[in-house]
Amino acid sequence: MESIIQLLPDAVANQIAAGEVVQRPASVVKELLENAIDAEATQIKLIVKNAGKSLIQIIDDGKGMNETDLRLSIERHATSKIKSADDLFYIKSFGFRGEALASIAAIAQLEIKSRTKDDEVASSLIVEATDVKGQEYAQGPPGTSITVQNLFFNTPARRRFLKSDPVELRHIIDEFHRVAIPNFHIGFYFYHNDELLFQLPPANLKQRLLNIFGKKYNHKLAPLNTHTDFVKVTGFIGTPDTAKKTRGEQFFFVNNRFIKNAYLNHAVQSAFEALIPKSSYATYFIMLDVDPATIDVNIHPTKTEIKFQNERSIYAVVNASTKEAIGKHNLSPSLDFETEMSMPPPSSNRGIEPPGVYVNPEFNPFENKTSQKKSNNITAQQPHKSSLNRGWEAFFKSSNLNAFDDADLEAPKSQQIFSLESEKSNEEAKDNKNPFQLSKQFIVSSIKSGLLIIDQKKAHERILYEKFIKQLALKKGLSQTELFPQNFELSPADSDVLSELLDEFKQLGLHIHRMGQNIFNLTAKPIDLPDEEPKQLVESLLECHKNNQAELMLDKNKSLALAMAQNAAVKYGQLLQKDEMSSIIDMLFACESPYISPSGKSTLTVIGNDEILKRLNQ
Ligand code: ADP
Ligand code: MG
Repeated sequence: MESIIQLLPDAVANQIAAGEVVQRPASVVKELLENAIDAEATQIKLIVKNAGKSLIQIIDDGKGMNETDLRLSIERHATSKIKSADDLFYIKSFGFRGEALASIAAIAQLEIKSRTKDDEVASSLIVEATDVKGQEYAQGPPGTSITVQNLFFNTPARRRFLKSDPVELRHIIDEFHRVAIPNFHIGFYFYHNDELLFQLPPANLKQRLLNIFGKKYNHKLAPLNTHTDFVKVTGFIGTPDTAKKTRGEQFFFVNNRFIKNAYLNHAVQSAFEALIPKSSYATYFIMLDVDPATIDVNIHPTKTEIKFQNERSIYAVVNASTKEAIGKHNLSPSLDFETEMSMPPPSSNRGIEPPGVYVNPEFNPFENKTSQKKSNNITAQQPHKSSLNRGWEAFFKSSNLNAFDDADLEAPKSQQIFSLESEKSNEEAKDNKNPFQLSKQFIVSSIKSGLLIIDQKKAHERILYEKFIKQLALKKGLSQTELFPQNFELSPADSDVLSELLDEFKQLGLHIHRMGQNIFNLTAKPIDLPDEEPKQLVESLLECHKNNQAELMLDKNKSLALAMAQNAAVKYGQLLQKDEMSSIIDMLFACESPYISPSGKSTLTVIGNDEILKRLNQ
């Protein structure tokens, strides 16, 4: 029988390969940008028309190709980047498969003009559907210019699958970002339909991010910097308020290559856990440097997925590094309460303390309990002075975010004029914030960058919630004995629920005893809870607890702590005195997670001066 197997002609084989490499115009942009970077370009110009459907041109000032290399560059498996299989384990370049130009040449009209520094003239090669139409000498500077026209002109089915211009352009911009961010030392121009979309001068990473994403990230990026034996983590995370409702600016780069990795994404997201609402996506631009021998970039033809040898250890480092940045830089909207006026002069002989996480371990909410009971006990819970001062210091330091620059990481300027001993100025600073109440609902205070608006109820819930959680952990809640304990009766269903919770309530300072089938007696309760009839109070606590468990999926302790906080917190409509508002502000920022209420809502917002100006100038 006659043999039926045949070798496919090159043009067909290339077209098949192109199916994997070139999905859309953005894939061409990615491959060509990467080639320019591999060629050590210092300036790259990207020119696109009709979202890349009619034209993609990339001009670089890299090392170029001589006549012979130029002809070879469009052959399949022709690469200058690896020589043997061993090299696969030490890949430092973007490309190595030698497939991109062959694939693009198979499905478009391609012109490559290139000149090395040693050559006097450039050569130009014209290819159409793998067919070389001509090669000739040409004029031109050292470097390479590649023009791709009419993508998919010979594969109409694929051309029809392209999306609208705005969608395809979005993909191109995404690829452009992924290449331009880690290669911040290279200058980029990007034109679309003759309009200059991006002009990115060579810069440092922070500057590059601001140039791409806009000044909105100014003051809102905190650096990562962790070195271990097997990975170096650098880059930036965005402050919690830069988190997005849709997956937005999330970038991992491994050895400068953009990658997607759900596992590592989780490492970052979970470090932000208490700071951003559950449904939000943290902003990050994280660079990982690892030994190329410990990764496999070969598992996907377009190489956005890679395999790490020690993925779990890298997860742990990324998670810890993110947490460290969050803690160190006290990530927050910049909340310096116009304190600068009252700062002491710089002192040269005091060491500068590095930023740290300022939770107050000695915080004892009951220390001032002997003081006169206030209507809602807010000021009675004032943390004692030293922890308060540290809270303020942390506050003040949060303004350091403004000063972050790659260059001045080690000693933000504002710290130099601040020290732990400056108690007096802290007190003054405290008075300076001069809060007022708005609509019996919000606490408003002027801060340097604008207007701070705190939701009184949510903020107080956060404060009390953290306090109750601590009490449950320590198993000692303080309480006041009731002078005339009264029996009360609950429904059989509530009685069952309550009976299960008596121990935990006791740890929270709420002493309830079972007297009969559905009869209970309340003998003592924490000072924070409102003066309500015991039956009403307990029913309301149980109601909140049930909701918290069902809706927020909280475990028993968290749900109970929250139920207590919800009942004890100031309500909307409640008038607050100045000192009470000050206390709420102080205590809120002494919390571990000041920005989010225990049920996941924002406790505060800042209207920036720039926003106010914008409104006024409208
Ligand atoms: P790969 O990048 O995987 O090697 P490509 O098909 O993208 O494969 O490119 C083939 C070869 O052409 C490269 O290995 C390189 O030698 C050369 N080349 C491609 N683009 C450029 C460029 N812009 N400047 C210099 N050489 C280039
Ligand atoms: Mg390549």
